[in-house]
Amino acid sequence: MNSQKIVKKYEKSVAPNYGRLPVALLEGKGCKVKDADGKVYLDLLSGLGANILGHSPTAVTTAVAKQAKKLMHTSNLFYTEPQGELAEELVKIAFPSQALFVNSGAEAVESALKLTRKYHHDKGSSSFEILSTSNSFHGRTYGALSATGQRKYHTGFAPLVPGFGHVPYGKISAMTSAANDRTAGIIVEVVQGEGGVNPAPDGYLQELRELCDKYDILLIFDEVQCGMGRTGKWFAWQHEGVTPDIMTLSKGLGGGFPIGAMLAKPEVMSSFGPGTHASTFGGGPMACAAALAVIETIKEKKVLQNVVKVSRMVFSELEKMKEEFPSLIEVRGRGLMIGMEFDLPPGVCTDVVAECLKEGLIINCIQDKVIRFLPPLNVTEKEMMNGIEILRGVLCKKIS
Ligand SMILES: *Cc1c(COP(=O)(O)O)cnc(C)c1O
Repeated sequence: MNSQKIVKKYEKSVAPNYGRLPVALLEGKGCKVKDADGKVYLDLLSGLGANILGHSPTAVTTAVAKQAKKLMHTSNLFYTEPQGELAEELVKIAFPSQALFVNSGAEAVESALKLTRKYHHDKGSSSFEILSTSNSFHGRTYGALSATGQRKYHTGFAPLVPGFGHVPYGKISAMTSAANDRTAGIIVEVVQGEGGVNPAPDGYLQELRELCDKYDILLIFDEVQCGMGRTGKWFAWQHEGVTPDIMTLSKGLGGGFPIGAMLAKPEVMSSFGPGTHASTFGGGPMACAAALAVIETIKEKKVLQNVVKVSRMVFSELEKMKEEFPSLIEVRGRGLMIGMEFDLPPGVCTDVVAECLKEGLIINCIQDKVIRFLPPLNVTEKEMMNGIEILRGVLCKKIS
């Protein structure tokens, strides 16, 4: 079936809630993905940052296939080996904690919000409010949406969950004045993703940690996008050495297989006794086998070192483009989470992305002004250079 035929099926029978690019993808390996008409693309967006080892990495497909033949699903009425092993591996690379498994980023955030309120409830405290930041993105379910600090995602869905407040990102004074004795938790992305690829300013995390310690507020780092090696360390907070009370993960965790996780310090997680919170599929053996293969591959293939090396090259190349294109006002991010902010009229960045697609490059545009790269973490310098050259060519045509 060609792309046109596949698109046609969607028009009639699939919910219209996505603005999709006019391409139906068929198969992929590494950074390359082929559409239903046989055209090959260089994919430097990797399924919104989920395919951290590229398309269909052998280690993951093998682990999933093997597990699928053995045992696909059990529910959490039973123990399985992959879930226990994955929890151990995650705790080893993160902080002294316990893991709770779900199926997506929003669900991981939802779990963190519920745990935060339950923790305070169990202590006999009346704190319930959650503070988050402007331009944040935490997911689309009601709790996660209420935490998300972007009005455009709220429109039409009122009333949201009560007890959420939003303050400017990166400004500790704003957080300090918003916090009070009703505050139960503070949730932040260590590098904001959908909000425009905004890394936390130096010292911000440490100041949040101190604020939380002083008032017994739980500090939640949403690492759904910036975690799992994306920034060159397992988790972005490890650059600053500031440990959260709760951390959420998803996107890259399963290397393309859906899985989410929430890690929390044991003394916090203990508020989730039997019957308090659950997920039928959460921590299923296939998802956990996928995530275990991801972690093992990152270690074995020294993928974190690759992120640091390739990132250095990319940032230096993109910085050079500022001279060529004066409307490129900032290149920012961390590791292989990279944003290029342009000062251009609305719609131009989206056009640039559409033109790149025609030229065989997959990237995207967020906030109508930031071009974003989220390549696989095992991408080579050469592949990144190819992508940058395609983008440069398109920018020459479109904006100069
Ligand atoms: C993508 C994202 C989410 C939501 O993840 P879903 O799997 O789409 O529900 C939550 N937080 C952050 C930081 C994200 O980037």
